[in-house]
Amino acid sequence: MKAPLSRTLLKGRTLRYSLRRDRRTRRPGLEVSRRDGLVVSLPARAREEMVHEMLHQWSDWLIKKLDEYDCWDGPCVREYATGSRILILGRPRRLKLKALAAGARGYKAELDDEHLVLAMAPERILDPRPVLEQYLRSLARDHLPKRTEHWAARVERWPSRVIVGERTTRWGSCSPSGTLSYCYRLMMAPPDVIDSIVAHEVCHLRHLDHSKRFWRLLDEVYPHHRRGRDWLNEHEDDLIL
Ligand SMILES: [Zn+2]
Repeated sequence: MKAPLSRTLLKGRTLRYSLRRDRRTRRPGLEVSRRDGLVVSLPARAREEMVHEMLHQWSDWLIKKLDEYDCWDGPCVREYATGSRILILGRPRRLKLKALAAGARGYKAELDDEHLVLAMAPERILDPRPVLEQYLRSLARDHLPKRTEHWAARVERWPSRVIVGERTTRWGSCSPSGTLSYCYRLMMAPPDVIDSIVAHEVCHLRHLDHSKRFWRLLDEVYPHHRRGRDWLNEHEDDLIL
């Protein structure tokens, strides 16, 4: 669940942000993205007034970013309805929302080259994003372990676990214990872009850093990995749920 947004004024304009307290952070930080809006992180015991000191100190930069991402009111929320466009495996599909019989549980999905038909409980149709998330997660749980196995065989290292991340801000990550986690929204990207992220994380099973050795291995295993990153950056807006 998302924390409620706090509200303040920045140079006379109303601004909404989320505040995160993090025991592991020593320094306060500001982050702006289309998906999360402005996120202020504070060390667990820092005074809350620090937020205002920081906003003031960084106001020029912040105003520029908030304008650029159009998120003065908090995270951008995309609306999904029948007729909306959604990328699935990199291909735009028209969304068709249908109601299941009253009292029915879960959802039903049908995907073809042009459409994604989702049948769900009638009360979900106004905001189908939780159902879309469930659908993308189930795609991810099917697709990502297979691709991981494929690339793992190339580097001859196997992960201890593959999980579909809860609300990771990164596309993928690799833990020291060899757990690979991926963001379910990756399933909106084309298969070769997904592969570039999987190959990257799998290479971390050999080198858990971004050293020269790591990049050399990745270049060898997946020579076009930079194209994947570029695509993800370019299509950031299409990958919001
Ligand atoms: Zn990495």
